[in-house]
Formats: sequence, structure tokens, C-alpha cells
Amino acid sequence: MDRGFYMQYRTPIVSLAVVITLMFFYFTRKRLRLRSTKLFTLFFVSSFLNIIAELSTLYTIYHIDTTAVWINRLCHQFFIGSLDITIYFLFLYVDARAHRQRRDTVLVQLVKSVPLFAALIMVVFGKLNYYIAADGRYSYGLMAMTVYVSAAVYILGIITLLIRYRAQFKNKAWLTILTGIFLWGCFALYQLLNPTALISSMALMLMIVFLLLSFENPREFTDFGIPGVMNSYAFELMLSEYIESKREFFLVTFTLSNEKLIKTSLGYKDIAKILSSVFKQQQHITGKEAFHVKENSISILCRSSGIYTALLNNSTGTLCYVNGNGISVSLDYFTSILAVPLFVQTANEVMSVLDYVSSEGVYRQKNGLLIITDEIVGQMKRNSDIEMLVQHAVEHDGFEVYYQPIYSTDKDRFSSAEALVRLKDKTTLGYISPEVFIPIAEKQGMIKKLGMIVFDKVCAFAAGAHLRDYGIDYIEVNISGIQGIDESLPELLKSCMDKYAVPPRFFNLEITETSSVNVGEMLLKNMNKLRTMGCGFSMDDFGTGYSNLAKMVQTHFDLIKIDKSLLWPCFEGDNKDAVVLLESCIELIQRLGLGVVAEGVETEEQMKMLKKNGVTYLQGYYFARPMPEDAYVSFLAEHT
Ligand code: C2E
Ligand code: CA
Ligand code: CA
Repeated sequence: MDRGFYMQYRTPIVSLAVVITLMFFYFTRKRLRLRSTKLFTLFFVSSFLNIIAELSTLYTIYHIDTTAVWINRLCHQFFIGSLDITIYFLFLYVDARAHRQRRDTVLVQLVKSVPLFAALIMVVFGKLNYYIAADGRYSYGLMAMTVYVSAAVYILGIITLLIRYRAQFKNKAWLTILTGIFLWGCFALYQLLNPTALISSMALMLMIVFLLLSFENPREFTDFGIPGVMNSYAFELMLSEYIESKREFFLVTFTLSNEKLIKTSLGYKDIAKILSSVFKQQQHITGKEAFHVKENSISILCRSSGIYTALLNNSTGTLCYVNGNGISVSLDYFTSILAVPLFVQTANEVMSVLDYVSSEGVYRQKNGLLIITDEIVGQMKRNSDIEMLVQHAVEHDGFEVYYQPIYSTDKDRFSSAEALVRLKDKTTLGYISPEVFIPIAEKQGMIKKLGMIVFDKVCAFAAGAHLRDYGIDYIEVNISGIQGIDESLPELLKSCMDKYAVPPRFFNLEITETSSVNVGEMLLKNMNKLRTMGCGFSMDDFGTGYSNLAKMVQTHFDLIKIDKSLLWPCFEGDNKDAVVLLESCIELIQRLGLGVVAEGVETEEQMKMLKKNGVTYLQGYYFARPMPEDAYVSFLAEHT
């Protein structure tokens, strides 16, 4: 055998070995079902076949005397034809990545494949000669030339796409492909000058390595917490492709209903495991690949409307989970389903729906199947409108503070007031209660700013209106749980009080029961600092959260504000249990040596009952509604 034989065999054999190894890694992992990924897979597989074809031509050309002429020609046709097709697939791959936004018409698709068809016709009918010498053997002639011509056309096409749609390629992907193409150019030139070199297999292998290392690596898309599930980046890509297809599809999401409980009782790590069991439990219905987009949920994209019936018959939504310490917990999750483009149309809107269904407000109420309709999308849109309004208000002084007088039974006068924030703009979206916009501000990270705006206004008002001259001992100011655990809170409040020269003892900070329990050290540290300065504290909404009386005493609240939900039931019919509950709470607080405030006092009857039980502070519509600054000053002038 010629020396050239071994030289020429070497390159394709090595390339084949590398490609087979890469195939093993690529095909044993879950791949995204993106159009571009499918085209890359085609490129990958056809490269593999092309190298095999090349090896077969090497065999037949070195056994040219013993091989039938037509077999030799067929092997060469297979080799050259598959190389044409491989380059065509690479072109289509880059094309798909360049225009995720639109699909080609049949005509455009035809035009794009004309060079390939021309090349394939030449492969079938073209003439081929064989060069046989001691330094190597190869084929040449019209058929072989087609590779150079069609490759040149498609490579030019690729370069044009890369330049023209540069912005469409994320993470400098265009540069990677361009470098690969440049290398191809060098290889082609070398091949042209050294016909015996046979290095096309190496060019293919290198291009595959380039693409796999940069963005076709399935690991880029897998979620590390949950086996078999893809990450949110993968979701984003799939979602935009689904949306652009303009065909109907469904987003199904399984959301854990009691995420908070899971976090506190089982720990963060378990959430991934629980979601993984949810996925397994539902996989036989949904089948498709799942995505881990929001921490507490798993989402699935699917095309068939049969999913509705499948889910209706299978939305038990309960799961028994045993954690690492052998603790068995029964958990609930709910399923939501959204039809696109029926209810929402854009990828951003789909993401907002996901945000919405995984937010606490929704999953607290739901179990079973939540079908997302116009009504829910409407609510969601209103939420995002409110979000924008609040954002604007934070930046453009759009808030004002109302004051609701608090009556002291001991002192028989209005000795304090609660500061309650209001949006100045009451027309754009109508009146929006702080009960609605405060949670939105908390979620959107605006609450610290908002809280300081309120506090600044209260200080300014207290100083400017000389509230102490009207017999006001202190003002109650609401502090959100998020502000409470902000390390800078004491300093921020202090500098604000100093600015208006209002002493800290003029403020009683209200912290809700829920946020004063289970928050760890930061809140306590802040409270201690503020207490040392002179501020007082009230526990707000007593009776609505999970009370932790030990902590209540430990953290030294001065006042406990009994929530309306403990008061009102006492006056609905003949509700003796409610009365027992309320009276015991009042007694308990008093025996702990803390002051009691009753909120939501609306009637004389309620006022008398509370007075009889020794409640020292009363607040509610019976006395006065929250009012703007000037009205409050007049109110005080009238009542002193
Ligand atoms: P909250 O702290 O429990 O405030 C008491 C709420 O009960 C106020 O609603 C008040 O207007 C209302 N209220 C008072 N008396 C009566 C009554 O007799 N009957 C009825 N039906 N309602 C009464 P508002 O002003 O809508 O505030 C709602 C919630 O928004 C507050 O609940 C508080 O949690 C939050 N909030 C208000 N202002 C602020 C603020 O500046 N910062 C923070 N973080 N939260 C605030
Ligand atoms: Ca309050
Ligand atoms: Ca309250």
C-alpha cells in the first residue's frame, strides 16, 4: 500500500473518533426542541455520515482495480453530495438563529436551496476523474468542483447573515461562527493547493466543537437542582419560538401552594426535590420537557388542547413528601393553564402571568386547577398598571399622608394618630387602597423608598403643625417587614427626625404580627437601636398571623393593636365564642403589662364593650376616618 494511504486515512479517522465521542455526550442529554437546535443536530449527523462516506471513498480509490467503477463513483457521489448537504444545514442553522422572529415563505425557502439543488444535479451527472500517484489519491473534476462552488455560495450567505443580523446573536455568537467560517476558508485554500490533504472532515469536526462549546451544549439549558428539567434560559428561548410560530399553545404551571411553610419547615434544598416529584407525578400527562422558571413552580409548554381534559381528570394536587430527616409532609400544589395567544400574546405577558401565578397572593387561595382567563389577565394588567403608578409616585412626590385619630380612654382625648399613606392620583386608576399597593411596592423593591417618603412627611408635618401643642403624644407609623430587616433603618429614621428636630419618642412604629415573628436577628437589632433612641413599638394586626407570645414579650412591644377581625365577629349575631376570644386576648395583653389598641371601632356598642374591658386606646370610623393634614389639624383644634 502507498505511504499516502496512511497519511490520507489519518485525518478522517481522527475526526470520526472525535465526532463519535461528541455525539455520545450530545445525544445522551436532553436537547431543546428549538428549530435552530434541530438544524444543528442535522448538521452534526450529516457531518458524521459525510466522514464515513469519505472513508468509503478512500477505500474504493485505493482498491480501484478491484472495485466496480459504479461503486467507486457511488461512494464519491455519496461523499460529495453529503458534504454539500452538510454545508447547507450549517447555513440553515445560522439562518434560523438570525431570524427567530419570522418563518420563510415556501418561495424564499426554495430560493435558498437552489445552490444545493444545482450542486446535487452535478453530483448525479457530473464527470469525475481520479488522481492516482505515490503521494496520495483523490478525485477531481466537475462533480468535485461543486463542493467549492456551493460551499462558497453558502459561506457567503452565512457571512451576510452574521453581518446583517448581528444584533440577533446573543453572547457574541456571531463572532464564534465567524471565526469558524474563517478557519473553513483557510482549510479550503489549503485543500485547493494540496489536493491530497483531504481535510474536510477536520473542518467539520472543528466547527462542531466550536458550536458545541459555545451555545449548542445541552448543559447550558439544564437545571442543576432538578434532574431532567431545563432552566429559565431554555424557557425563554422556547417561549419566543412558540410565540413566533403564531400557533396556539398552552403554558401549564405547577406551583407549590405552601412554599413559605416548606422553606421554614423543610429548607430550601427540599423545594427542588419536591418540584421534581411534582414533575414525575405529572409527567405521564404532560410528557413534554419541563422548565424551572420560578423558584416554586415547574412549567410546561404544550401544543395540544387535550391537556385541559387531561388536567381536569388529574388535578389532585397533593403530594406526600419525605425529607432527608425522615419527616413526612403532605404538600399541596395547584395547576394553572394559560392559552396563548387567546389570552395573552407576547412573551413578556406570558412571563407576567408566570410571575402572577407564583406570587403568594394567588397560591394562598387556590388549589386544584386554575384556568387563566381574561378576568385574571385583567387583574394582572391592573397590578402592573398600579406598579407603574406607584413607581411614578415614588419618583415624583405622588404620595400624601392621612391621619386617623386614636382616642385614649385614660386621658379622655385624642392623644395620637396613625399615619396612613395615600396615592395623590385618585383618577387615573381610581382610588387604590394601600392594602393593594403596599404589597406591590414590597414585591417591586420600592417599599424602602416609599417608607422613607412617608416618614419624612410625618416628621415635616409633626414639626410644622406643632402637633404636640394639640396634646398629641406620639404618631403611629407603619413599618413594612422589609424595612424592618434593613440594616440602615435606624440611621435613616434618625437622620430624618434630626432634620425636622422631632424627638424619637414622638414615634411609635407599627410592625405587623406576621413580620415580627420568624424574622431572625436583624429586626430585633433594629428595634433595640431605635428603642435606645427613644422610639416606641406597636404590634400591628394582632390575631391575624401565627402569634408567638414568647417573642412578643421578648421584643418588648409597648402596644398591641388588636385586629378588626377579632372585634367585628363579636357583634355579628350572638357570637359568644368570639367574645370569649376577644376578652381573653385583651386580658392576656394587659397581664403581660402591655397597652392595648383596638382598631376598626365602628359603632357605639363596640366602643362601650371595649371600654368596659379596659382597652385604653380606640381607633376607628366611630371616632374619625383617616384625613388629610389640614383636616386633621382642624379636627384637633375642635377637640381640644
Ligand atoms: P393597618 O395598619 O391595619 O391600618 C388600618 C386600616 O384600617 C386603615 O386602612 C384604616 O383606614 C382602616 N380603618 C381604620 N378604622 C376603621 C374602621 O372603623 N372600619 C374599617 N372598615 N376600616 C378602618 P388603610 O388606610 O386602607 O390601610 C391599609 C393598610 O395599608 C394598613 O393596615 C397598613 O398595613 C398599610 N399601610 C398604610 N399606610 C402605610 C404606610 O405608610 N406604610 C406601610 N408599610 N404600610 C401602610
Ligand atoms: Ca397599622
Ligand atoms: Ca392594623
